[in-house]
Amino acid sequence: MNEDSVRFRGPWLVFAVLVLSASLTAAAEDPTYAALRAARPDGRSLALVNAEFDRDAFHFTLNGTLDLLAPVDGTTFGAVFVGTGSYTLTPANEAEKRQLAVYMKDDKLEALADTFGAAVLFDASLIRELEQAAGGAKPGAADGPASAAYDDFLKRERKDFTTNLHIRLLQELLHPGGRPLFLAYINGKKIPPAILAVDPRGGDALHLFDIGDDGETSALYVQDKTKGGIWYLARPVKAETPGPAADSGPVATAERYAIDTTIAPNNEISGGTVMAFTGRRAERVLPLALEPKLRLDAVDWARAGDAPEWRSVPFIQEDEEEDADAAVVFPEPLVAGEKYLLRTIYHGVGKAVLRDAGDGNFTVGARDSWYPNIGSFRQTADFELTFRIPRSGKNQVVAVGVESDSRVEGDQRVTVWKSAHPLRVAGFNFGNFRKASQTDEPSGMTVEVYTNPGDPDVLRQFQQALQAAAGDMAGGSFNVDTAGLAQAAFADGANTARVGNAYFGPLDDKRIAITQQSAWFSGQSWPTLVYLPYLAFVDGTARQMMGFGADMTEFVDQVGAHEVAHQWWGHKVGWRSYHDAWLSEGFAEFTSGLVLLKRKGVGAYNDFYEKKRKAILERPRGADFPNCEAGPIAQGYRLASWRNPQAYSVIVYEKGAYVLHMLRMAMLDPRKENSDEAFIAMMKEFAATYDGKNPGTRDFQRLVEKHAPPKLKMTADGKMDWFFDQWVRGTVIPRLTAKLDVKGAGGGKYRVVGTIAQSEVPDDFAVIVPVYLTYEKGAFAKLGDIPLVGETSKSVDVVLTLAQRPKGAVINAMHDVLTR
Ligand SMILES: [Zn+2]
Repeated sequence: MNEDSVRFRGPWLVFAVLVLSASLTAAAEDPTYAALRAARPDGRSLALVNAEFDRDAFHFTLNGTLDLLAPVDGTTFGAVFVGTGSYTLTPANEAEKRQLAVYMKDDKLEALADTFGAAVLFDASLIRELEQAAGGAKPGAADGPASAAYDDFLKRERKDFTTNLHIRLLQELLHPGGRPLFLAYINGKKIPPAILAVDPRGGDALHLFDIGDDGETSALYVQDKTKGGIWYLARPVKAETPGPAADSGPVATAERYAIDTTIAPNNEISGGTVMAFTGRRAERVLPLALEPKLRLDAVDWARAGDAPEWRSVPFIQEDEEEDADAAVVFPEPLVAGEKYLLRTIYHGVGKAVLRDAGDGNFTVGARDSWYPNIGSFRQTADFELTFRIPRSGKNQVVAVGVESDSRVEGDQRVTVWKSAHPLRVAGFNFGNFRKASQTDEPSGMTVEVYTNPGDPDVLRQFQQALQAAAGDMAGGSFNVDTAGLAQAAFADGANTARVGNAYFGPLDDKRIAITQQSAWFSGQSWPTLVYLPYLAFVDGTARQMMGFGADMTEFVDQVGAHEVAHQWWGHKVGWRSYHDAWLSEGFAEFTSGLVLLKRKGVGAYNDFYEKKRKAILERPRGADFPNCEAGPIAQGYRLASWRNPQAYSVIVYEKGAYVLHMLRMAMLDPRKENSDEAFIAMMKEFAATYDGKNPGTRDFQRLVEKHAPPKLKMTADGKMDWFFDQWVRGTVIPRLTAKLDVKGAGGGKYRVVGTIAQSEVPDDFAVIVPVYLTYEKGAFAKLGDIPLVGETSKSVDVVLTLAQRPKGAVINAMHDVLTR
């Protein structure tokens, strides 16, 4: 019996064999897609005189000629306008108005308006309406300017947007009947080249971006090196209720991936993946996430079963430097609830996934697209990962899940990794690693640390530069002992596991691999696998020689805990849309603060939040406004704009952490044996309830409402909207001032007297201000809370019997409330 069949039982046996035996016969191109790509203005045209139409928040006026594109499958799906056109975009809500004002650098903006001399329009129903209004199209010869304008769009699609919008048009053509797609390309007089869209499937369906839209169907996406971004993304102006768009949701959900990856001696990768999935909608087009430099060679599909009948299926993947989004076009619509298999064979070109960084160090790219997939991070699936690497090299693979096999086959070393439970994404690291392993008894977590004894190119270059700068002076050379730094990584893993277990409940996995990578600053987290930036493995002396200041030391101190914390926040519990990204990044950052508290005490914890407070209020160099004015936490990734590119990380990570810290402080009860009891109960319930799911901020809010003490219920309805509206969906940061005195009143009695005031807030802005008594040596004790609403001041006058004479009284000693 062959060794494989002992180890691979059940469906995995079928999978592994299937991957290896896949055919390499390329399928014919899908004819409808080919016709869509080939369609050009065909000579039919309409004269438009003051033609006006609305598409949700967009209002258009066109005077000129509309040249129709050749029909595909009998439908005129697109047209080119040449003449004098204009549009206005009237934002659906205040957050989007603010977003447009930021991008346009116009604080008074109420609506966006632009004019244009040409536009490409895709909307079959709109073209029909315009055709009827004009009394039909005139036949003729294709118009030069219209053809040129369309060619300009096609070039932009390939070279600038690098997004295959034709895949979305194909979906629309093959599945008409729902609400129509409106898509326009406009290179405006004021606004750089842009896509304007009303897409009933949601903003992400265009694949111009992937941020997890929340049912937003109207978008303005600008392509520009400086000012580019998602300028507008909103639900319909007349949206009835918030929630995902009716036509959105995945075409299919994946249940299992068997990924067979070969890493060649030159580090190029090739592979085959079998994905088992269930159809969710009766559709023929299945978009796949795949790194463009991984080129599809063949795709087959079959209905799942004991003896699947494989059929080759057409796929789409344009040139790797261009609009290379991948998709499969099935010959018939998927059946909802039916199970299928999809087998893909691909090979990498250039540095598709692995970049050699010297001396056995590698950078692994294509985080969630090194295998063809659907729904990474949003859906969970089982994984079996097979890696075939050169037997002779020193390098090894460390992957997610559990290593279930390691063997030699010819000149290859083969390792197999299996997920012990469904995961959101699979990842691996590769390099010449030295492995060390320790089990932390209190947390039960085995932490493996993989370091690379070799110096990556980036370090060598740095040393050369340092030596050149030092000249004949004292040598600028130093060695980096990465193995010595492994101990710090152990501590990060163990400390974070202890804090996470205590505050959020245990993880399913009792092992985590912390691995070095050659990127200087970026850490990453996969299920059971963490990348620490190279800097984290460089000791303090070397960091100082490199000119990295105290900021970097803090980053290094915290990045390990932050990345390990993603095992709870990001991998165990996901997030619904970009509005909710703080539930991952803010919570992970908060967790690294808790680890700091346990390691270094209250002083370090307070410093951690004081630095965050300053960062939130700060206007970064080159930015037009302070981070806190960029927008609310709920704006997520879209906070990063050309006016302040850093705002996203500061507001979602740092303010996100601060908001959770504020809840923790407000829920603290010193009378309890564990003063964090209520907070812990809330966080554990949140982690357990949304294990493997993608909660939104409102889901978290409901659990806060369940566990919060009565003092936090500041409104009659007992809801916490006031808190989340202010801190997650709002941008106001109050100024709190206090003038408090403590006077001896005789007989062990003390009188605390003075005023506490709030300013720079709207009338309904509510805070609960904690008052603390201070003692010698920086000690303090909480006295009580004073609620304040709006711009107001309250006087304090209490007499207390105390065992010890206080030095004084202060507010907000634990950074309990984020203030100016
Ligand atoms: Zn993170």
